Amino acid sequence: QTAQPTEDTIFGKIARKEIKVDLLHDDDQCVAFHDISKQAPTHILIIPKEPIKQLSECTVAQEPLLGHLLFVAAQVAKKQGLNEDGYRLVINNGRDGGQSVYHLHIHVLGGRQLGWPPG
Ligand code: 5GP
Repeated sequence: QTAQPTEDTIFGKIARKEIKVDLLHDDDQCVAFHDISKQAPTHILIIPKEPIKQLSECTVAQEPLLGHLLFVAAQVAKKQGLNEDGYRLVINNGRDGGQSVYHLHIHVLGGRQLGWPPG
């Protein structure tokens, strides 16, 4: 099965605001919103507005954007009250990484003790 073109993913539509979701963060480079199928009491996704398929396709030109996404993830986590107990950031990359939506995204998971290692 080949991955869908990034422009056609649900996240592309959310980033372009063709699909309205409750945005927890919105700036010129990225947006954040709740995952539709939460795996923890708090489960948020940070996505770039630029259609990047996955982490492994990033170029050096996107290095500042990657830093920005991480910084925003930490800001959003703090705003959600996760700083005291902690949280986890996850990027699933490709088939073995369990990526299902081929538009780069960072998961922010918190609100319960998370297991390690992942299955
Ligand atoms: P991946 O498995 O690619 O790392 O993560 C994709 C995530 O996107 C999953 O956690 C899934 O629940 C979430 N997701 C898929 N479709 C939608 C949607 O339409 N809206 C939202 N908010 N999340 C979605």
